[in-house]
Amino acid sequence: MPGTTTQTTKKPHLSPYQEVNHHIENAARLLEISADYVLPMKSCYRELQVQILLRRDTGKLEEFTGFRVQHNAARGPYKGGIRYHPSVDLDEVRALASLMTWKTALVNIPFGGAKGGVNCDPTHMSDREVQGITRIYTRKIDMALGPHRDVPAPDVNTNPRVMAWLMDEYGRKHGHTPSIVTGKPVEMGGSKGREQATGWGVFCVMRDALKEMKIPLKGARIALQGFGNVGSFTAKFCHEAGAKVIAVSDVTGGYYSEKGIDIEKLLAHARAHRSIAGFKEAEPLAGDKIFEVECDVLIPAALGDVITGANAPKVKTKLLVEAANHPLDLDADEILAKRAIPVIPDILANAGGVTASYFEWTQNLTQFFWTEKEVIEKLENTMAEAFRTVQTVVKEKKVSYRTAAFSVAIKRVYDAMILRGI
Ligand code: NAD
Repeated sequence: MPGTTTQTTKKPHLSPYQEVNHHIENAARLLEISADYVLPMKSCYRELQVQILLRRDTGKLEEFTGFRVQHNAARGPYKGGIRYHPSVDLDEVRALASLMTWKTALVNIPFGGAKGGVNCDPTHMSDREVQGITRIYTRKIDMALGPHRDVPAPDVNTNPRVMAWLMDEYGRKHGHTPSIVTGKPVEMGGSKGREQATGWGVFCVMRDALKEMKIPLKGARIALQGFGNVGSFTAKFCHEAGAKVIAVSDVTGGYYSEKGIDIEKLLAHARAHRSIAGFKEAEPLAGDKIFEVECDVLIPAALGDVITGANAPKVKTKLLVEAANHPLDLDADEILAKRAIPVIPDILANAGGVTASYFEWTQNLTQFFWTEKEVIEKLENTMAEAFRTVQTVVKEKKVSYRTAAFSVAIKRVYDAMILRGI
């Protein structure tokens, strides 16, 4: 069936960044792009690594490392989220920055790709400490930022509040600049519809893929890892559309219900307790079992590299939608391809977030604000167009959704590089 072939075999022990470069090579081969141009598409333009010294509430001085990697800006200013997580390192940030380049190109918005992060755990920090980290990090990477240079956004463990602190800190030096960051609170120039945008995009693409596979959305059984910004909104839209979300997990563990979890109740619980732990209206499920649940759609919406060669053979889904960035390693990709399980890649599935970020940036630059309905409708159109474009390549070239998506994106970046005159 279309949508299931990969071109090459994984080399052993590749890092996330090397794995993303492997996808680039596959797609560049399909496009017959000369190796001279593939090289700069794989490497990053600029990499900042900064020291962050924070006085903890306990009085202890603690050192963290912050990163900002700018991958490619052939099509517009660098764009990408900021992640706060203990596992953040340069390799992961490079991989995520590269994915942003291909994501923005795939949905055809005028941005390049970047990513940032700090290796801290904000879930064990006070608001004062997280604000402190954010302000120091912003000052240290200030020289690389700018509304027409590099525009950050939220990612894992960062949120509109963190974006507000970033904007405020940047503004101390440069004056009031809402367009320096997206995913801000609406009260500070954020866009209506941005908060739910990534989940809405995931839902739209999943709906289109199910239609293509002739699987009815109503009653479709969904299993979902991650109940943060992306996972919770994806679950909400699936539930509202009549799909059955039968399993959900987060960092604390998971829950299963054969008749479908009441997502409104789970959302209320998660809002009150900051996790799904202690939910009484479904059966407990060990967190790592989420990938073994028999379902129609499996949606990883938490961290990277969660489905690997070890657990991919146990996956029992008809379709996998990558709401998280890089949730599958190459072994998993290959195993699912052999098992004819189509995978909608991250650069397509979760591109709704950066698309709404583009709408927010546009509104900030023009100082003219859109309604939530306008944002959501424009987002749906953009996602549908991107899905159609990728689906056409899948059918014509008989390649996986991932190779098709990368090839569309790489062609656009390549054309911009040529026109700029590299
Ligand atoms: P978030 O911080 O809001 O939520 C993360 C969720 O993952 C939480 O529910 C957390 O409990 C869960 N989680 C963390 N570690 C886990 C583990 N070991 N096992 C199970 N669950 C675990 O983050 P988010 O913004 O929802 O981002 C989730 C993913 O989506 C990330 O890969 C991110 O890069 C990607 N993404 C986010 C956006 C966005 O707009 N926020 C856009 C595109 C892609």
